[in-house]
Amino acid sequence: MDFELIGMKKELCSVCGKEHNVKTIEIVEHDTIKGVNIVYPALYQYCDNNDKVFANKRQEQGNFLKNIDAYRKTQGLLTSDEIIFIREKYDINQTDLCQLLGWGLKTVARYETRFVQDKAHDSILRKLDKDPEWFLSLLEASKDAISEKNYKRSHEIAENLLNEKKDVDFQKERVVRYAKSLDMNGQKEACHVVIETERLRLREMTLDDFDALKKVIGDDDNMQYYPKHFDDEKVKNWIEWNLTNYSVFGFGLWAMILKETGEMIGDCGLTMQIINGAIKPEIGYHVRKDCHKKGYAKEAGRAVRDWTFNNLCFNELYSYMDKANKPSYRTALSLGMKMVDEYIDKDGVIDRVCAIRREEWEEL
Ligand SMILES: [Zn+2]
Repeated sequence: MDFELIGMKKELCSVCGKEHNVKTIEIVEHDTIKGVNIVYPALYQYCDNNDKVFANKRQEQGNFLKNIDAYRKTQGLLTSDEIIFIREKYDINQTDLCQLLGWGLKTVARYETRFVQDKAHDSILRKLDKDPEWFLSLLEASKDAISEKNYKRSHEIAENLLNEKKDVDFQKERVVRYAKSLDMNGQKEACHVVIETERLRLREMTLDDFDALKKVIGDDDNMQYYPKHFDDEKVKNWIEWNLTNYSVFGFGLWAMILKETGEMIGDCGLTMQIINGAIKPEIGYHVRKDCHKKGYAKEAGRAVRDWTFNNLCFNELYSYMDKANKPSYRTALSLGMKMVDEYIDKDGVIDRVCAIRREEWEEL
């Protein structure tokens, strides 16, 4: 049997009835739901004495949810956890949320467990996730149907989320104002940048790159250190954000093209980021999962670093990442950067900041 050992604990074994080290193991399960093949990791206990695998009550429930969620993922639907997360974001209970949405009062509770939501309801939940203003209007309309205490609590939270959203918009404006305050004219001449390396070409991305880019940043595994899932809209926003970057700054994240095949396998480039409160030029890179461990991020990142020091006035270049994102950290080191700071960002994530100064680059 093929399994991965997750843990081991001395406890009363419910198979053999003796106290011994009972293993917790993970087995990759295959199943078919509505004609769709799904694969998911399931947890079990394992008794060495009887060579027997069994699921305790909690594992049974957990495995069942993982099974349903694996199906949801194949259909591009929110998983049960994601639905819970959206609801908890507004600190609203299942029944009250149903009130707000005009759904049957048990609907949300079902979606958070065994019932797979339809596409229409899925879209409504996604809209709720990113639109606190809409949530507030729904809350206002249902004010009389829910308790005053619950109303007040969710109202306050949604107001805060709304302000935070405005805050992000404000931060974006700050970066654009900063760009305008710099004399970027000379630099914008370098527009429509194409950078060539041994194996790669970096060029400006366009909306035609959507499908290729989706395979990079739309892949949850690949983007596990980013707080949000990149759905189609976010992938499109990503391209549009870079089109703005090219026009405002003359640089941005560029499409990473494999010269041999002409295929776009990622992005790499320079953007202005707010890192620990200050606006800094940042080298960013994302490579499609099946192209990892080939040194593409390093090759492209070095070319972007050299291009920037050769063409722009910045005296220090940065990369920052979730502290847990070791591959990204190693890539930053391979660009000649050193760790210079760590801080907790607004999502509560510890971010690691790496940097290289112009004089250090000259010494390379
Ligand atoms: Zn046992």
